[in-house]
Amino acid sequence: MRAYASARLAPFWLDRPDAPEPAPPLTGEATCDLAIVGGGFTGLWAAILAKQDDPGRDVVMLEGDTVAFGGSGRNGGFVDASLTHGLPNGLARFPDEIDQLERLGLENLAGIEETLKRFSIDAAYEKTGFLLAAREQHEADELSEFAEVLRERGIDAEYLDQAAVRRELDSPTYIAGLWQRTGNAIVDPARLAWGLARAAAELGVRIHEHSRVTSLADTPGGVELHVGEARLRARRVVVATNGFPPLVRAIRRYVVPVYDYVLVTEPLSAEQRAAIGWANRQGTGDCTNQFHYYRLTEDDRILWGGYDAIYHWANGMRPEFDQRPATFELLARQFFATFPQLEGLRFSHAWGGAIDTSTRFFAFQRTALGGRVAYSLGYTGLGVAASRFGAQVMLDLLAGRESEATRLQAVRSRPVPFPPEPARSAGIALTRRALARADRNGGRRGPWLRTLDRLGLGFDS
Ligand SMILES: Cc1cc2nc3c(=O)[nH]c(=O)nc-3n(C[C@H](O)[C@H](O)[C@H](O)COP(=O)(O)OP(=O)(O)OC[C@H]3O[C@@H](n4cnc5c(N)ncnc54)[C@H](O)[C@@H]3O)c2cc1C
Repeated sequence: MRAYASARLAPFWLDRPDAPEPAPPLTGEATCDLAIVGGGFTGLWAAILAKQDDPGRDVVMLEGDTVAFGGSGRNGGFVDASLTHGLPNGLARFPDEIDQLERLGLENLAGIEETLKRFSIDAAYEKTGFLLAAREQHEADELSEFAEVLRERGIDAEYLDQAAVRRELDSPTYIAGLWQRTGNAIVDPARLAWGLARAAAELGVRIHEHSRVTSLADTPGGVELHVGEARLRARRVVVATNGFPPLVRAIRRYVVPVYDYVLVTEPLSAEQRAAIGWANRQGTGDCTNQFHYYRLTEDDRILWGGYDAIYHWANGMRPEFDQRPATFELLARQFFATFPQLEGLRFSHAWGGAIDTSTRFFAFQRTALGGRVAYSLGYTGLGVAASRFGAQVMLDLLAGRESEATRLQAVRSRPVPFPPEPARSAGIALTRRALARADRNGGRRGPWLRTLDRLGLGFDS
């Protein structure tokens, strides 16, 4: 508790003196071709791609709080090319399309990198690859097999024995590792979002912050968006509101907000850096069902998050859920168990945020109101890169345009809906307990998890 007692209870990424001033709220009555609701990565990419596709299109973005207020400003900043929340999940669900999905994911990542260059966005983007760390023998065995699968697919991946993994990042808990160099990077997510907002504005997108849309109404030839007393009439609408209370009813059945928590340390001294190594600065994670993710920031702090996944009754989302002392304490203890060399280091920031979880663990895109509204959500903790793909699919759907992506079954199909309450809460609680039990039992999945696996609903925090 001492280690995080003086932490600021706010996302490290957003807590900067150079954070941009918010754009003015929407007032009065306005019209546009395309309205975008939500100023996270999904909305920002939709704005940029829409303008790049047709510079003459009049695009307005409405953000209820400020750009990057949601998951986009609270995440770990791991940029993963996978569109399916990892190759194993994609392989299990869409084996016939996985080659295409993996290629589209890499193309999508290249598109992100090209945009960073074109608009000179300095978002501390580092192509470090990802390091998976094994602490149990069964995890090491799985990593060794996984390294083979990756290499067969042409992915640059290396299995690391205990000495090799500890040379990369030194934790006495590690017994093996896997360094995947293809398709993974780390980024400062808030600077990415602010940079994308600037790029969108340069392309002519009108951005309004503190403009919460309360409802959408079908009108002849378009949709009317209500923002307090203000009104915006749009021909087409992109809904990019993640796990927030949905503007389209159907969303509620397919997404549950699950809170995830993060700590960030003070900057490490040269001695502290030397004590753990990490010269190659990889994004890192462990392999249990309840896993941690961790990485260095540009100024050599450690971001450490994950493990707990907290759901609140009836898709509850409240500002007070952003703080959870019990989880912060647990995370702090687990941090020092992983890096005992860093005893005495303090945490400067602690926060939480909702992850828009779907039963297939990657996003889906659909339309509503007779094809005038499109939405993309359900990224389940891996949306930093996939949000750009989701945005492009929405634009294609709104234009009635077939593309390679919209022809895919992975895009055309929907996840299995969650049951209503009270079954929803009960099922999630049961699953959490079963995952923790599997972690204690050498990864062996009990009857409940095996049933979910058979139904294609196997859950991973
Ligand atoms: C703690 C945490 C760690 C994560 N770590 C990673 C990671 O390392 N890598 C990764 O790939 N993904 C990660 N994710 C997931 C990732 O952050 C999200 O998938 C991604 O940011 C989703 O972007 P989005 O634009 O869809 O949603 P958001 O960023 O949540 O944006 C939605 C926006 O809509 C606004 N909004 C909602 N309702 C309205 C309304 N009615 N009117 C107007 N505006 C509205 C909100 O204010 C919000 O700004 C993490 C998420 C969390 C919470």
